[in-house]
Amino acid sequence: MKYYSTNKKVTGVSLQDAVVKGLAEDKGLFMPDSIKKLPQLFFDTIENLSFQEIAYTVADAFFGEDVEAEALKKIVYETLNFDVPLVPVAGSIYSLELYHGPTLAFKDVGGRFMSRLLGYFIQKQSKTKVNVLVATSGDTGSAVANGFLGVEGIHVYVLYPKGLVSPIQECQFTTLGQNITALEVDGTFDDCQALVKSAFMDEELNTKLKLTSANSINVARFLPQSFYYFYAYAQLKKEGKSENLVMCVPSGNFGNITAGLFAKRMGLPVKRFIAANNRNDIFLQYLQTGNYSPRPSVSTIANAMDVGDPSNFARVLDLYGGSHEAIVADISGVSYDDRQIQETLKGCYTQTGYLLDPHGACGYRALKEMLGENETGVFLETAHPAKFLETVENIIGKKVEIPPKLQEFMKGTKKSISLPKDFDSFKNYLKTRII
Ligand SMILES: *Cc1c(COP(=O)(O)O)cnc(C)c1O
Repeated sequence: MKYYSTNKKVTGVSLQDAVVKGLAEDKGLFMPDSIKKLPQLFFDTIENLSFQEIAYTVADAFFGEDVEAEALKKIVYETLNFDVPLVPVAGSIYSLELYHGPTLAFKDVGGRFMSRLLGYFIQKQSKTKVNVLVATSGDTGSAVANGFLGVEGIHVYVLYPKGLVSPIQECQFTTLGQNITALEVDGTFDDCQALVKSAFMDEELNTKLKLTSANSINVARFLPQSFYYFYAYAQLKKEGKSENLVMCVPSGNFGNITAGLFAKRMGLPVKRFIAANNRNDIFLQYLQTGNYSPRPSVSTIANAMDVGDPSNFARVLDLYGGSHEAIVADISGVSYDDRQIQETLKGCYTQTGYLLDPHGACGYRALKEMLGENETGVFLETAHPAKFLETVENIIGKKVEIPPKLQEFMKGTKKSISLPKDFDSFKNYLKTRII
């Protein structure tokens, strides 16, 4: 399969190059030349398949031409070895819990998959050392860093906004050591993302260092996120609840929801999507006005969605041929402020006993408000509530149990390098890393 850039100046790129490069030379995002429809038989019997079996079928449609079957199977089975349960919360609303992986957030799926796929290509290629740059608003850093920890030939630099990630998130990528370096940037997530993008565009750096991205701009990070949409459907079908399915996705950089839109193109019967935002609701404004005008992000208690210029918007546009009308027909949007998120988290806990995290709370509330009578709603519960310990405990007025996996991270010693947010400082730092 070949890949083209959303900016259309770059075409015919191999999967290997798309994964190793991350971003296209014209600054666009890579898109596969075609999105294969999966056979009806797959959907007819999907309820009998495991998460890994489903994931392999979908992975094969995207990557099967470029990765040997045995290697691909191994990557799928070794990286997606945790459960993704669908849990009923209230009425026809279900939570797809994506937080049972090693760092307790959905980004484990893409982070782990990508680290192995990149490792596979590096081994095939030149064996030159590759530097992964990743900007994080919290969870990406931990998922990517843990996915890549100890992977030979790869060094990971995690850029994160100083003081804007939760202490638990921070310790998940600042305590690892080995081939992981944490860079604490005096700025916002958008500043971190801008630094990463500038580094890819910098000719001098790119002649001296092999750089790639592990943000959802990378196809190897983002495409695997479509797997669990199929698995959610399989679980609902088993219960006879899969008709008129509405998928609701708490969204920041829009990688997760775009993977869902890809799943729909592959034939998954999803009636419509809802993108749930916090106050950073640039996408909602696009839906309402047809104009996309990014603006600086504001910080909220759902901090992994504090994104002022969602990268994957370019993919959404491309997927729908730039048609606002077509986008509005498939996706609606909603935006909640911190007070509404708190109210929802607390209300859901008191009424149903189900504990949401601040991101999932946006998804749950959107379904509460927008789900039609004969529809079934699934929201993606994107992180474990204990990852936002203080926030969640303050809202419900109770202690939250910290899963053992998280406690382990908290025992480590934090180690990071402080950087200002200007590109020159970052560039100079990277140059000192050239051996
Ligand atoms: C990253 C993240 C999101 C947003 O996902 P996007 O793919 O960037 O839209 C939502 N919730 C949590 C907990 C996250 O870590």
